[in-house]
Amino acid sequence: MQVQKDKMNENQLKNNEIKEENLQKEAPQSVDFIRSIIIEDLKTNKYGGRVATRFPPEPNGYLHIGHAKSICLNFGIAAEFGGTCNLRFDDTNPCKEEMEYVESIKEDVRWLGFGWENREYYASDYFDQLYEYAEQLIKDNKAYVDSLSADEIREHRGTLTEPGRESPYRNRPVEENLDLFRRMRAGKFKEGEHVLRAKIDMASANINLRDPTIYRIRKVAHHRTGDKWCIYPMYDFAHCLSDSIEGITHSICTLEFENNRPLYDWFLNELKVENHPQQIEFARLNLSYTVMSKRKLLELVEGNHVCGWDDPRMPTISGIRRRGYTPEAIRTFADRIGVAKANSVVDIVLLEHSLREDLNKRAPRRMAVLQLLKVVIDNYPEDKVEWLDAENNPEDPSAGTRQIPFSTVLYIEQEDFRENPPKKYFRLSPGREVRLKYAFYIKCVDVVKDAQTGKVLELHCTYDPETRGGWSSDGRMVKGTLHWVSAAHAVKAEVRLYDNLFTKPDPEDGGDFKQNLNPKSIEVLSDCLVESALANATTGSRYQFLRQGYFCVDPDSTKDGTLIFNRTVTLRDTWAKIEKAQKEDSHT
Ligand code: ATP
Ligand code: MG
Repeated sequence: MQVQKDKMNENQLKNNEIKEENLQKEAPQSVDFIRSIIIEDLKTNKYGGRVATRFPPEPNGYLHIGHAKSICLNFGIAAEFGGTCNLRFDDTNPCKEEMEYVESIKEDVRWLGFGWENREYYASDYFDQLYEYAEQLIKDNKAYVDSLSADEIREHRGTLTEPGRESPYRNRPVEENLDLFRRMRAGKFKEGEHVLRAKIDMASANINLRDPTIYRIRKVAHHRTGDKWCIYPMYDFAHCLSDSIEGITHSICTLEFENNRPLYDWFLNELKVENHPQQIEFARLNLSYTVMSKRKLLELVEGNHVCGWDDPRMPTISGIRRRGYTPEAIRTFADRIGVAKANSVVDIVLLEHSLREDLNKRAPRRMAVLQLLKVVIDNYPEDKVEWLDAENNPEDPSAGTRQIPFSTVLYIEQEDFRENPPKKYFRLSPGREVRLKYAFYIKCVDVVKDAQTGKVLELHCTYDPETRGGWSSDGRMVKGTLHWVSAAHAVKAEVRLYDNLFTKPDPEDGGDFKQNLNPKSIEVLSDCLVESALANATTGSRYQFLRQGYFCVDPDSTKDGTLIFNRTVTLRDTWAKIEKAQKEDSHT
C-alpha cells in the first residue's frame, strides 16, 4: 500500500502545479472523444485535476506501428494536459516474456520521442500486493478455488446464447478457499490442479463475468521475480489493479477490451480501492498489406519468413526504424489517423505519405545508379576531372551545396536508355540529347552491343562544354534529365529494395496470412554505384537518391565495410494522388 501512496503523492504534487493552468486552457478546436472526456473530467475535478495515463505493453515481442499509435496517444495526452504517462510492463505471463523484449520496448518508446522519467513500472512489482488483494476477495467470499480441469471450466462456461453452469466447487467455505490458495502459492499442487476464480455470475450475458480465473499455477521462473512465485495473476485482475496502484486516471486501451470493462470495474469496486481509473477504449490501428499482432509477427520471425524482428519489411518499430522511417513521420501519421471508436483499416500509403513529407524536407539529395550502364564521353579529356556544384536540398537552402566530380567515364541507369524509344520517352536514345543533372548536356553518338546477345554494353556520347551546370544559353530544349555518377569516383554499394510484405491488402484474406507473403518483398542489387559524397555515410543516415526514392544506411554496412542502403520509400506518392482526385471530385 505504501508504494501506492508514494506514487499517488508523487503524481499529485506534480499535477497540482499544473492543474490551474489546465483549467484555464481553452479546448482545442476539434478534439477526439478521449480528449473530450479528459477535458470534462478536468472541469469537474474528477481526479483532483490529475491526468495520469500509462502505456502497458506485455514484453512478449517487439512493438509494432499499432503500438506507436497507443504510445503517441498516451504519452501525447499526458504531455498536452500536463500529466504523466507511465511505462508499465504487463509481465504477468512468465512463459512468453523476456528481457530482450523489455529492452527493445524501451528503446522504441524513446526513439519515438517520449520519456517516462523514473516511472518505469512492472506488474510483477505488484505481485505481493495483488496476492493480498486476491486473499481479500476470498475472505469477502468473492473468490473461490476451483478444482475443475481447464477443459471442464471451458465446458461450464456456456456460450454467447447459453448461460454457464456453476462449478461444484463454487461454494467452498472461505476457510477452505484460503487454505487451498495459500497452498497453491506454496507450490503444493501441480499446474492446472486448481485455479482461483472470481465469484461473479455464471449466467451473466457478458462471458467475462462468468467467474473469470484470477490466478493460475505456473511452475516457471519469471524474468524478474525468479522462482519466488508459482502462481501468477491473470491479465484482467492484474491490469486494473496495477492501474489503480499507480494512480492512473484514464486507462486507455483498444476496443477488444470493451467487454472487459465491467470486470475491470468489478474488481476495483469489490476491493474498494482508493483510486478507480476510467477505462476508455479506442479502435486499434490496422494497416493494409501487413499484419499487426505480436503473435503473427513472431511466427514470421520464427519461421524465417523475415530476417528477425527488425527486418525492414516488418511493421515493427525496430523494422521501420531500420528501414529509414523517422519518428516525426510516425507521430504525424498518428495525429492524422486520430482516434475513433470504430475499427477500420488505414491505407499504408497514408503512412508512406507522412514519411515522404518529412524526408522531403530534410533528406540530403544524392545521386546513385542502381542498374549500371557505362557511358564514355568521347570528347572529354581522358585525365580531366571537373567538380560541379550540386545543391544538397532544394527544399532547404540552408543545407548548402556539395561538389560532384565529372570525368570521361560515367554510369547512368540502364532504364534511362532505349535504343528504340517509344513515344513520350524523353531520356537517352541514339542521336538524342539529354541533360546530366548538375553537369552537361550529352548526346548519344554510338551504341556498343554484345555481338551474340545484342545486349547494350556501353554508350558513347559527346558533351557540350557550353552547358556546364546543366543549362544552355542558346535556348535549345532537352526534355530528359538523368542522374549519373563518375566511374572513377563513385563508391560501390548494395541497395535493398523493399515492397509490401504481403500481396493482399488484407493478408488474412483466404486463411493463413503466410500464404499471402509477397515473394518479391525484397530485391537485393549488389553492384550499385553511389556518388563519392556518400563514401562515409553512417548507419541510419537518410538520403534522397535523385529520381529513385529515399534510402537509409543499413547497420549491416559495418559488417564488412560495403555500404548498404535500404530503400525506405519510393518517390511516387499514391496518397497525394488519391487526395488530389478526391478534391477534384468534390469540386465537380
Ligand atoms: P498484439 O495484439 O499485437 O499482440 P497486444 O494488444 O497484445 O498487441 P500489448 O503489449 O498488450 O499488445 O499492447 C500494449 C498496448 O498497446 C495496449 O494498450 C494495446 O491496447 C495497445 N495496442 C496494441 N495493438 C494496437 C494497435 N494495433 N493499435 C493501437 N493500439 C494497440
Ligand atoms: Mg495483449
